Amino acid sequence: MSEIKKEKAEKIVAVKGMNDVLPGDAHLWELFQNTAQSVVQSYGFQQIRTPIVENTALFARAIGAVTDIVEKEMYSFTDSMNGDQLTLRPEGTAGVVRAVLEHNLVYEGPKRLWYTGPMFRHEKPQRGRYRQFFQFGCEAVGFNGPDIDAEMIMLCRRLWDDLGLENIRLELNSIGDAEERARHRVDLIAYLESHETLLDAEAKRRLHTNPLRILDTKNPTMQEMVNGAPKLLDYLGEESLAHFNGVRKILDHNNIPYVINPRLVRGIDYYNRTVFEWVTDELGAQGTVCAGGRYDPLIQMFGGKPTPAVGFAMGIERLIELMKAAGEPDQPNQCDVYLVHQGEQAQLQAFVLGERIRDAGLDVVMHASTANGPGSFKTQMKKADGSGAAFAVILGEDEVANHSASVKAMRAEEGEQQQSTVPFDDVVDFLVDQITGGDNHHYHVHDENCKH
Ligand code: ATP
Ligand code: MG
Repeated sequence: MSEIKKEKAEKIVAVKGMNDVLPGDAHLWELFQNTAQSVVQSYGFQQIRTPIVENTALFARAIGAVTDIVEKEMYSFTDSMNGDQLTLRPEGTAGVVRAVLEHNLVYEGPKRLWYTGPMFRHEKPQRGRYRQFFQFGCEAVGFNGPDIDAEMIMLCRRLWDDLGLENIRLELNSIGDAEERARHRVDLIAYLESHETLLDAEAKRRLHTNPLRILDTKNPTMQEMVNGAPKLLDYLGEESLAHFNGVRKILDHNNIPYVINPRLVRGIDYYNRTVFEWVTDELGAQGTVCAGGRYDPLIQMFGGKPTPAVGFAMGIERLIELMKAAGEPDQPNQCDVYLVHQGEQAQLQAFVLGERIRDAGLDVVMHASTANGPGSFKTQMKKADGSGAAFAVILGEDEVANHSASVKAMRAEEGEQQQSTVPFDDVVDFLVDQITGGDNHHYHVHDENCKH
């Protein structure tokens, strides 16, 4: 015992780059989740939930060996119980595709799927870049036309609108198919070699492994040089070009603005044809809030029948930051009713009443005792006020004796009746009537963003 007392317990803190979402922010996450879910449902997408841990081989194969993610960002470990090589998922597509194949999901036809959850990448933590971060994504599996690409882009647009986010622009490109990229690659490498003195160390390293990714560089001293590099768009064959123009036609017809960014590529090997990003200037260097594209070759790479697919993933932390900047919706009240009670008998009755009020669909916080004791009437009323409740329901000795409760309107305007004595058995009806009924009630209790 004295041992414990002597040693001051060392503080354990969160893992670097992994954030807590505290109650003050959680309602924004809830709002994002509810909005995103209702948007994707309005396009007929269905949820899929896959494990956070997968076999390392899944990502090595799906994402490609010479990518940032597989080269240096994965949380991989050996399961000490059985020696399995496992990885915390760095992204969602690989797991979804694995599940689709494992359960033969596209057997009955193409599928529109969505997922959300934490992803893990060992990167240098900074604004908009964390080691645990959350994505919301969609995958449409089994569709090959440009129409679904356009649909997914329009779905994103609708989500930005529903979230009240402006200033997110769409960048669009086509990276063709493997053959077209191979032809482009020869010219690209030659071009980059002729500017070798301008290449940074990272670019030199990638010159012969993943030169396309050099186009994506964030190094300002290389911008001008990469701007002059051969453009993949100029290497597209007829079919790829027709696909790209098909996407553009639908976007144009629906007045979805975009800019064609010939340098837009994906860091992941399995993409082909359409690639897109939604970008904002409001978040500093980490301005991409959503990235997507086609990945027709992936499913065959996994041993499945050739199955075209397209998807995107959004970074939720970055979108939450934009939501905050756009003007935070008020934090919803903790409850509709705060239950104040004095004395043992009143406490017992308060429990009964609390359950009844909840049965009627209202949110109730019942005062609970702390180290300071059960709390004086004054203390409890202060708590009631702080909770944002529309009503305090008060049970004291007098109320118990009279089989009644006092109901106090906490947000009453001047001249309105503030406190009523209500028979115990009528309290629920009284509250429901005050809160939801009547034309001229003044209590706006249920925030529309707050689901009950
Ligand atoms: P970057 O080039 O910025 O590293 P990426 O190509 O690695 O991006 P994707 O794999 O396409 O990013 O992920 C899709 C989205 O997920 C990104 O556009 C971003 O919004 C978000 N995202 C990716 N990595 C992180 C991270 N470490 N922390 C927070 N959000 C992230
Ligand atoms: Mg990255």
